Amino acid sequence: MASVMMMEQELNPWVVAEARFDEAATRLGLDEGLCKVLRTPAREITVHIPVQLDDGRLEVFTGYRVQHSIARGPAKGGIRFTPDLTLDEVRALAAWMTWKCAVVNIPFGGAKGGVICDPALLSDAELERITRRYTAEILPFLGPEVDVAAPDMNTNEQIMAWMMDTYSMHVRHTTTAVVTGKPLDLGGSRGRPEATGRGCMTVTLEALKRLGLKPEQCRVVIQGFGNVGSMSAKLMAREGFKIIAVIEIDGAIYNRNGLDIPALIQHRKTTGSITEFAEAESINPEEAMFLECEVLLPAAKENVITSRNVGRIRTRVLCEGANGPTTPVADEILAGQGVFVIPDILANAGGVTVSYFEWVQDRQGYFWNEQLVNERLEEIMVNSFRDVVSYAEKHGVNNRIAAFMLALDRVAFAIKLRGIYA
Ligand code: NAD
Repeated sequence: MASVMMMEQELNPWVVAEARFDEAATRLGLDEGLCKVLRTPAREITVHIPVQLDDGRLEVFTGYRVQHSIARGPAKGGIRFTPDLTLDEVRALAAWMTWKCAVVNIPFGGAKGGVICDPALLSDAELERITRRYTAEILPFLGPEVDVAAPDMNTNEQIMAWMMDTYSMHVRHTTTAVVTGKPLDLGGSRGRPEATGRGCMTVTLEALKRLGLKPEQCRVVIQGFGNVGSMSAKLMAREGFKIIAVIEIDGAIYNRNGLDIPALIQHRKTTGSITEFAEAESINPEEAMFLECEVLLPAAKENVITSRNVGRIRTRVLCEGANGPTTPVADEILAGQGVFVIPDILANAGGVTVSYFEWVQDRQGYFWNEQLVNERLEEIMVNSFRDVVSYAEKHGVNNRIAAFMLALDRVAFAIKLRGIYA
């Protein structure tokens, strides 16, 4: 019973976020008042939105928007539509966004939001009505200079287009910069679909330089073959990495000589699964994460590396494409195993970085070509990687704590400069 409760605590997103915050704040010696400011979201909005369903019934859905910090710029963060959404989860994720934007030094604070609903049970028309009413209810707190939304779990380009349109109707002019992750024809940015994977690849290449390894010498295991996993795989394979295993929810595949990633992407598109892919053997998905490799890239979900399985991880580099794949308890053990960890708030920040570029382009009304987007993304990811690693060396801490310390330090510095806590 005690061990079940300990495991529950280890996996709780709020407890995880607090653990990292506390360690970074203590090491930075942040004063108590500033800790209180940084720990508490600036604004939490709960809305109950009446929406008519297709069969004529009226239903009420609950939505949230939490703005954790606006110290460094407008709040920024995704909107998720999930049946088990909680305010606590939204709070933790909003704070996470503040730290992520600060690590890559882009001028945004952090936010998160969503609606408790199950999109699998809703028609497109119902989803559109929920999106528009939710947007209308939180509208006074949105805006390019106030709070900029983005897609997240179960939301997409189309939902962002509806949000943008609803906002624009109310302010009576087209305001593309109020959300990011929009379709290209409505002010989206080139390079956004690949951005998170590209960021993962860039920081992995930087880690290899430090370890004296070349991509051709590296075997990569990837968990999750969605946006982040498949884009990372595609770009890394192009650089010469050998992607030896891909793990999905319905199976895992292995080829010691490296999988043909473009063919695998096509196979998944056609069949809906990675299984039964030619030139690969099927392996046990429960075991695949423990294959010996140089790079392990979890890109599926949170809490996959815990105190229960961390001892079996056999990689040199852990690049966290997913948010929160490693628990704090597992973290300490990984450090003892000599694994070079590229923490999520750095590794997967390529997505929010190109969202920032989208916001910049929308406000300029001038759009960049893909090469420029990719070059600027690479510059930010390389600089951020170097900032984090030199911070870790200077303060004698691991990369994750260094990333949190750097982020907290930047946000705290902005607050002090503004004097808003005096
Ligand atoms: P996605 O839905 O496109 O892909 C996730 C994939 O993981 C799916 O193919 C799913 O089948 C698979 N999966 C789910 N559970 C699994 C399991 N137990 N084992 C193996 N595979 C499993 O999502 P995404 O956008 O690629 O996001 C993945 C992770 O990266 C999430 O944690 C997300 O928060 C994070 N992230 C995404 C972005 C982005 O730009 N998309 C940016 C930052 C962080």
